[in-house]
Order: sequence, then C-alpha cells, then structure tokens
Amino acid sequence: MGSRTELEKIVGPAALVERPVRDLWPLGIMDERAGTAAPKVLVVRPTGRDQVAAILRWAAGNDVAVSPMGGASGVCGALSPAAGEIAMDMSAFDRIFEIDETNLICRCEAGVNGYALEQKLNEKGLTLGHYPSSLPGTTVGGLISTRSSGQESSRYGSIEDMVIGLAVVLPDGTFAAPRPGPRSAAGPALHQLFLGAEGGLGVVLGVVLRVHRLPEETIGRGYAFPELRAGLECMRAVMQSGIRPLVIRLYDAEDSIFNGYDVDDGECVLVVATAGLREVAEAEAGEVKKMSAGAKGMGDAPWARWQRHRFDLSAERLKTLLEPAGAYLDTIELAAPWTVLPELHSKVKAAIGGDGMALCHFSHAYEQGCCAYFSFAGSGDTEADARAKYVRAWEGAMSTALELGATISHHHGVGQARARWVADEMGGWMRVWKGVKEGLDPNGTMNPHAMGGSR
Ligand SMILES: Cc1cc2nc3c(=O)[nH]c(=O)nc-3n(C[C@H](O)[C@H](O)[C@H](O)COP(=O)(O)OP(=O)(O)OC[C@H]3O[C@@H](n4cnc5c(N)ncnc54)[C@H](O)[C@@H]3O)c2cc1C
Repeated sequence: MGSRTELEKIVGPAALVERPVRDLWPLGIMDERAGTAAPKVLVVRPTGRDQVAAILRWAAGNDVAVSPMGGASGVCGALSPAAGEIAMDMSAFDRIFEIDETNLICRCEAGVNGYALEQKLNEKGLTLGHYPSSLPGTTVGGLISTRSSGQESSRYGSIEDMVIGLAVVLPDGTFAAPRPGPRSAAGPALHQLFLGAEGGLGVVLGVVLRVHRLPEETIGRGYAFPELRAGLECMRAVMQSGIRPLVIRLYDAEDSIFNGYDVDDGECVLVVATAGLREVAEAEAGEVKKMSAGAKGMGDAPWARWQRHRFDLSAERLKTLLEPAGAYLDTIELAAPWTVLPELHSKVKAAIGGDGMALCHFSHAYEQGCCAYFSFAGSGDTEADARAKYVRAWEGAMSTALELGATISHHHGVGQARARWVADEMGGWMRVWKGVKEGLDPNGTMNPHAMGGSR
C-alpha cells in the first residue's frame, strides 16, 4: 500500500500495524456481534512531535482521515476509523515531565495512563481528583478530548476545571504550546475548544494540570431515603450549603437494590463522603447528617461498599455482558437543573425501560443541578430486534432531554452515538464549532467520526 510506505518513512516500519480499531460504543460491539466486523486500518505510533506533524501534513496532502487514539475506552463511537483511514496511537507519549509540589501543577504527555498518573500523584500526597469509572483504561489525551468527568467531580470539578494549558499539533502540522497560568485574560481560553473536540481539531500532545493535596480525612456515610425527591432535596441542600463533598451519589430505588445496598423496597440510598482537614471533614459530615433528616442512617457500610465496587464496570465486563446474541445495554448520562430532575428521571426511565431493565443514579452534583446517569439493558429475539429496542431507548432518552431542557450528555461526549441530536442542543453554537473546524482543518483530516461526523 503506497500510504504505508510513505508513513514508514516518517515513523519507521516497526511503528505501523494493521488492525481493526474500535472504542467501546455498545452499538458498535452489538453490530460486530451481528456480523459487521470493524475494518482493518493502519495504526501509526509516532514517538515525537515532529512525527505527529509530518503524519498530519501527509494525511492532509493525501486526503486520509486521522483519528488520535488513547485507551479506546470511549463509549460513543468517536474512535472508529473506517477503511482507508488511519488511527494515531498516542501511547509513546507517556512521560510525566514534572510534578510541582509547591505550585500544585503537573505537566505530562497525552498518552499517560489516567490511573498511573493518579498513582504517581498519590505517592507525593497529591491527587488530580479525576476518577472516571474507566480510569485504568484511559489516557490523559482521551480524558481531555471527551470532556470527561469523574466520581469526585463534586469536589474537584471535571476535566475542564483541571486543565490549565494544552500543547497541541494542529491539522496543518503547526504547534500551539501551553500559555502561562494559572489563568489568563489575554483573549478567550481557546485551548478549552479541544476539551470535548474528540480529536476533531488536532492532536493533544501534552497538558498542564491543576492538582490538589490529598485530604487529611475522608468520612463516608450512607442514608436511605423513603423516596427519590427527598434524596434529591438533600443533595441540593448539601451542594448549596457550600460543602464540596468528595463523593455524593443518590441511587433510585431499583439502582439501590441492583447495587446491593441493604435497603427496603422503594428506598433510595445516598452515599456521601466529606473530605479535607480532619475537623472540617467531621464538621461537614455532621452538617450532612442534619440535612439528611427523614432518612435512615446506614453508617459507613454503603461508603465501604461503594469504594470496593467503584471500578467494577470495566471494559472486559461490558464486553462480556454484550456477548450473548440479542443482548443490549448502555448508559446515558444527562444533566439538568434540580427542578427538572424528578420529571427527567421518570420520563427517561419510562422511555428506556421497555421490557428490560432501567436504573438511575445521580452524581456529579452542582449548586445548580446534577447529572442523572441511566443504565438500561434487555434482549431482543433477534439481533435486529435488539438493535431496534436499543435505538428506541436512545431516541426516547434524547428527545426527553431536549424537550425538558436537559443536556444530552454530561460526560461521555457525542461521537456517533449522539450524532442525530447534537445540533439540536448546540443550536447557534454549531456554527461556531463548524467555523473552528473548517478554519483549522479545511481538508477534514481530523477524526471524521467526532462530534457526530463532520467530514
Ligand atoms: C466501563 C466504562 C466506564 C466509564 N466511565 C466514565 C466516567 O465515569 N466518566 C467519563 O467521563 N467517562 C467514562 N467512560 C468513557 C471513557 O472512559 C472516557 O470517554 C475516556 O475519557 C476516554 O479516554 P481514552 O483515552 O480511552 O480515549 P479514546 O477512547 O481512545 O478516545 C476518545 C476520543 O478522544 C480522541 N483522542 C484520544 N486521544 C487524543 C489526543 N491525544 N488528542 C486528540 N484527540 C484524542 C479520540 O480520537 C476519540 O475521539 C467510561 C467508559 C467505560 C468503558
């Protein structure tokens, strides 16, 4: 293949392989199970900035699309190069350059594994505070490019709150380095455009991250609420009191039982952990207890249980659950103001439940509202039946979100999964996205499966 020879000249033959590349989009896994195999594509593994630039220049000149690839743990089909396209494996960019313990800044490359980075920080008494359930399978570049959010976001924020600066290679092979921090008003924070761009604007090479000292104390408790609204009201009260809990998660009645919490039928479990200086964490735990009046105290067992199982839904588990013919399952994470959440909960559950299972928990809380995280699963008599039920669930959830003014994605992103709906949410901002995309990437070289497809 001509392209292979030319790419070999840039990276050397050992840095090229041919294989199928897919992320963990459940519909992609289901289609593969039903017989539509992912095509083999060239996977190129650059080892330096100049190689990345040369690959992008070559790709633009030859009209070949390039998808940057991190851990391939995305769940929206953003990483799914088609035949003739190439994937750029970023795993060689795995250096942590600096952990600055005075200024609480970390500089690292985009291919660094998310969990490995957190462990290195922990060794120094620090944390990024970014814990997507998939953390062991992620890279920093992927976490940035999907605009991800982790289990401790109510205290530390999501990835956009952690990124101070970015180093990127633009589609024409030019380079943009991180600007000075900790903040700048010298124009808009343009690096933020790359957060959630799903590799559609260029290749993230490196990042400057804001890190934190590990809390001296963490106190976790569980409360069983007799019904969902009371639990949501408690969450709102906690977040609006100024307390920033390390973790705050409310499971609806079905999800409480599914997760093995010791509750009676209909009860909804709130798991909440306060953290910080010992006396502050204790005082805040006491305040949370007061705000949970009306709920049954469950002690620290739910917190211990949650910690044990926080990474249970792995890539392997997901694939195993989707192995049986006709099985379908997925998760849909929406976000809305507090006043909208009860209606969003009941309507989306009705839309995704079908004759299968529908669960919901609330996490990633803000003063203004919260993420509602739905899981659904079921089976069809045939592959076509399963696909139809799965697509119906997505259509129901997305149209309900748009109708109620909720966001169609809190943290998984767009990819192909939300292609049909992203313009409905973005409205006039879609023009801004397209302007940036066409301006930076006039040949449409960068990931054509990002943001619902833009090639
Ligand atoms: C079991 C499970 C649980 C999950 N839980 C969470 C969760 O709690 N919170 C959450 O936010 N997400 C979660 N996810 C989704 C997923 O882990 C995230 O989307 C993650 O951020 C993807 O990182 P990655 O390195 O695997 O990226 P990939 O899947 O490799 O890529 C994702 C996108 O980013 C682009 N990209 C990757 N690297 C770069 C780069 N260097 N430069 C430019 N573009 C790049 C790709 O082209 C692609 O469009 C979960 C996934 C699974 C399977």
